[in-house]
Amino acid sequence: MIKQILVLACAISFLPSVHGATASPTIQVVRIGCATFKEKLQKTVVKLASLKNPEEKAVIFDIDGTAIALMKDYEIDHARPAIFELLEAYNILLKEGFKVFFITARTGDRKIEVETSRGKKRTVTIHQLTERALKVAGYETYEELFCMPERAYLAGYKEGSDNSRWEDTIRFENIALWKALKRATIASEYKIVAIFDDQAENLEGEDTGTPVLVPSIIFSMNKIEEISHPGKQGERRAPKNRPKNVDPAT
Ligand SMILES: [Mg+2]
Repeated sequence: MIKQILVLACAISFLPSVHGATASPTIQVVRIGCATFKEKLQKTVVKLASLKNPEEKAVIFDIDGTAIALMKDYEIDHARPAIFELLEAYNILLKEGFKVFFITARTGDRKIEVETSRGKKRTVTIHQLTERALKVAGYETYEELFCMPERAYLAGYKEGSDNSRWEDTIRFENIALWKALKRATIASEYKIVAIFDDQAENLEGEDTGTPVLVPSIIFSMNKIEEISHPGKQGERRAPKNRPKNVDPAT
């Protein structure tokens, strides 16, 4: 079973800047296209949309393989296509007024060197790259992005293992446990009503609301479509105050 792709490419031509770029009026998407999944997702979104006081409720999205597609032969992790069905659900829930959070096992505090479009080197964190990836994929508005600290991620290493092959040695139960801890943090402020993830183990435990398992798919490049930016078609809500108890560093 293919797990989340967590290796971030260093040799990339970094787009204008992590924070400064203007979102394009078009974005790239791929579609899961599974009727059963689409029906389940639509039922969940309709059910959520009927809830009262959405501003007191949170929905949580995983990133790789959930909000943003995993692509075959495609190494640029700061700019990959959105998964259309999930982007659509995100836009509806955001417009309804739910608090949107992203929780990812990407190691946010890890620094890598990237090359800017002007050929200069700069050091950025994976957290910054991930913010960029969300923006490029159309996920511009959210309360908080939680990336896994590298020390927690590396706790899964087998003793004596080759660190260059960390994707083979990581203990994925650490990710599920860490994600549950982040959910508990969010749940101290908001009622979690749904979580979306492509790994079943990340949907277990407490504070899940309605768990939605996204089909685990690695898309090929010929599946990419360009669509007009869904977020630009309607009015967007600005993010409200961030939860007081959240520590983005952990
Ligand atoms: Mg995932």
